[in-house]
Amino acid sequence: MIEGLGPDEARVFMRLALLDAARQLRQQLVAQAALAGNGCEPVPADWAGISPSAPQTPNTTRPSPPRTTDAPTPVPSAPNPAAEARRAIVGDVKKSAPRARPNATPNQASTLDAFSQLARDAGPGPSAQIPESERPKSMAEVRTLLGDCTRCKLHQGRTNIVFGVGDPTSDLMFIGEGPGADEDQAGVPFVGKAGQLLTRIIGAMERTRDDVYVANIVKCRPPGNRDPEPDEVASCEPFLTKQILVVQPKVIVTLGRVATQALLRIRTPITRMRGHWQDYRGIPVMPTLHPAYLLRHPPAKRAVWQDVQEVMKRLQSDQQGA
Ligand code: SF4
Repeated sequence: MIEGLGPDEARVFMRLALLDAARQLRQQLVAQAALAGNGCEPVPADWAGISPSAPQTPNTTRPSPPRTTDAPTPVPSAPNPAAEARRAIVGDVKKSAPRARPNATPNQASTLDAFSQLARDAGPGPSAQIPESERPKSMAEVRTLLGDCTRCKLHQGRTNIVFGVGDPTSDLMFIGEGPGADEDQAGVPFVGKAGQLLTRIIGAMERTRDDVYVANIVKCRPPGNRDPEPDEVASCEPFLTKQILVVQPKVIVTLGRVATQALLRIRTPITRMRGHWQDYRGIPVMPTLHPAYLLRHPPAKRAVWQDVQEVMKRLQSDQQGA
């Protein structure tokens, strides 16, 4: 017996509680499978060579605080029907307000709001086609347009603009969220520990950094490696769009939650997005986890290896069809 409930009410309550438990178990299994990358090939051996504890080249620049933004957004727990039912049965019914994301940090919540705001307010979205007349003729033209940019407040703390690097005619483009301390000092994206791991991932794809193009959503370092804010993304994104228009890659790989959500203007957690093809102006996009996250959670490398294998297959079939 459940205190305060009659037999019929108790039966209903127990049934709802069982349904809720099953739903939560299913969510956990889906999230674990996403991170484990079930059934994928073994991760290339040299990826294991980089870890937070592995010896690194002495770093003479300022130490980078750990990124707080690379972890996949936790999947929000579903509403609890058993609890709702119990409140209804015992008469303690208060209409509950819609749940806030229980595990989102204020910074994450603000970023999510930012991207939905972008979806409403910003220029052409990821499905819009840009007229040929608006396509920049070269990467140098985009760099000239950007200039010594002060369009958003991130310019105040930067050492260097981190524009982008690689082959501007590549068929493969990687997009991260923004520079860290090492990148800010060097003026080059992905040069710190996470960047070294990205270089190994690219190597496992039988490419070099010079064969691909690497850029970020924002080109100046957010202080303390926080997520870029809405106005910052809105100010900088048009230049990333122009870079993509110049490269015209066959595939874009977005690295981590912030890059994926900002480019595609969605709120879906990266745990659900990774490994699933998306579209940006007709270009296939493969979202995957950020290398900085892999440094903290090495088992997730299997998932990323699975994603890059999909990318390799796609590029190969494109080449064969060309
Ligand atoms: S982040 Fe982008 S828009 Fe903001 S100041 Fe730097 S280059 Fe300009």
